[in-house]
Amino acid sequence: MKLILLGAPGAGKGTQAEVISEHLSIPTISTGNIIRAALKAQTEMGIKAKEFIDKGLLVPDDVVIGIVKERLKEDDCKNGFILDGFPRTVPQAQALDEMGVEIDKVIDIQVPDEKIVQRLSGRRVCGGCGASYHLLYKKPEKDGVCNLCGAQLVQRVDDKEETILERLKIYHEQTEPLVEFYKAKNKLTVVEGQEEVADTTALTLKALED
Ligand code: AMP
Repeated sequence: MKLILLGAPGAGKGTQAEVISEHLSIPTISTGNIIRAALKAQTEMGIKAKEFIDKGLLVPDDVVIGIVKERLKEDDCKNGFILDGFPRTVPQAQALDEMGVEIDKVIDIQVPDEKIVQRLSGRRVCGGCGASYHLLYKKPEKDGVCNLCGAQLVQRVDDKEETILERLKIYHEQTEPLVEFYKAKNKLTVVEGQEEVADTTALTLKALED
């Protein structure tokens, strides 16, 4: 199955992607994670992307399209994949079509803006392995420390409140038009993000079967 997870930053795409990935044994391709890894490794692309990410802006289309094009050539994508955080603009979606990728389903996880701000400002990520936590909803066993690898938890620069508001504005302007784009192709299923992650997961798994 070839899936796209659509939704605002912080809607829970990453968490749902993890569940689906395990459920269907297909990889998740998260452009955000790929870009952050490039940043950590100080590659040329990573260094260029930093100025956009830190301000909450989108990295230019040609850069992300190039990343996805290369990643989809890898062997583990043969039986399907989940795109998490791509496409984020209409030109990116068109590029996917031009690559000949036949998407089976687009799941749009909808969460109101106020909730997004609350969620993202409380998010903390592991500086070592990238695992995600929340100050209220998903506390680590030991304050400020990753359960999985023991590294320190940090706040993403783009999870500061003013940057979150900028990311939401960009989401509404540039990414939300994809809802109509995929609705017109009859690919869209909406999942209402719930208070409890497990409830959203149940709806997501049901959406896969519909
Ligand atoms: P994410 O982890 O998906 O929230 O992505 C973090 C940041 O990476 C975004 O705010 C963008 O700056 C950049 N990014 C990730 N995916 C894309 C994309 N498809 N198009 C443009 N920029 C992206």
